[in-house]
Amino acid sequence: MKKTAYLLIALILLALCASAALAEEKATKDLFAMDTHISITAYGETAPEALEAAEALLLERERLWSVTLEGSDIHAVNHADGEAVDVSAATADVLSLALEMAESTGGAYDPTIYPLVSLWGFTTGEYRVPEVDEIERMLELVDYGAVSIDGCTVALKKGMQLDLGGIAKGYAGEEVAALLQERGVDSALVDLGGNIHAVGCKPDGSAWKIGVKSPTDEGLLGVLSVCDQCVITSGAYERYFTGEDGETYGHIIDPDTGRPADSGLLSVTIVGSDGGRCDALSTAMFVMGIEEACEYWRANEGFEMIALTDGGTLYVTEGLEENFVAEDKGLIREVCVVER
Ligand code: ADP
Ligand code: MG
Repeated sequence: MKKTAYLLIALILLALCASAALAEEKATKDLFAMDTHISITAYGETAPEALEAAEALLLERERLWSVTLEGSDIHAVNHADGEAVDVSAATADVLSLALEMAESTGGAYDPTIYPLVSLWGFTTGEYRVPEVDEIERMLELVDYGAVSIDGCTVALKKGMQLDLGGIAKGYAGEEVAALLQERGVDSALVDLGGNIHAVGCKPDGSAWKIGVKSPTDEGLLGVLSVCDQCVITSGAYERYFTGEDGETYGHIIDPDTGRPADSGLLSVTIVGSDGGRCDALSTAMFVMGIEEACEYWRANEGFEMIALTDGGTLYVTEGLEENFVAEDKGLIREVCVVER
């Protein structure tokens, strides 16, 4: 009798160990897509196949949304000379969200910014500071309200061009997070060039620790603890050039002025659960500047924000007070909690 009991206990222990080992199984995938280095770490038995599917999804999204790739949905719309074009359901969906975010941010985020991004040379790397009249001419082509979308049929006015660069990575990251979950992955980290999507918590149940990059050096502004959320940062430090006048010009354009955003912010990090929305917001808040950004946050639920001004004040919205630890003492002069 005793022997059977021991055997049973031993078997149970063995089964427990085996299931723990399976849960801990870790798989990784690195790829380059959507103009960015992507790295995904996923845990669990189904992780390896789920990662193959994730890679296929990201390559597909690049094929649909690349602004330069001939044959992509966006390229087709941009080169249709004002004619209507049929796009895939995923393109219609990300574009609808983009237009919704443009409306919601009063056009600080505007997916029709491409003519200006291109005028300043950010598409080719042949940077230059354009003349005022050139900027004015291009500004006439930037107008999210002039995009017509009916089901999967999209039309622009002649000369207008779409650029999903401010939303596509966040949207696709969210799609990947959902795909991994559908395929049985309960714990994963999706890193699209520093924009992070956390699936669940770490396999041991504790929160993921996400470093928020400093906009001026290799260091960190701080560390966020998150489960099941995305952490998306915009800053002019990622892509910029220095003009002959010695000024630096960043890749986020203010749709009001047609010039690189100069709102006094060095970086904005958005934390939330809707990747596409958070990505559009990171770009929009960077354009708005701290006061307008805080007003927007107070008026809209569902996301939190960390923003660093060029004066060294780090603004942290109250929902993050418990899960953010500021680190870079050199750059941050003071931390200010933003309340509703
Ligand atoms: P990144 O893609 O570098 O992480 P963002 O999410 O802020 O940073 O996106 C910046 C990109 O969005 C630019 O490279 C450009 O393609 C596009 N963009 C620039 N200004 C705007 C704007 N005001 N609204 C929408 N998209 C923009
Ligand atoms: Mg963005």
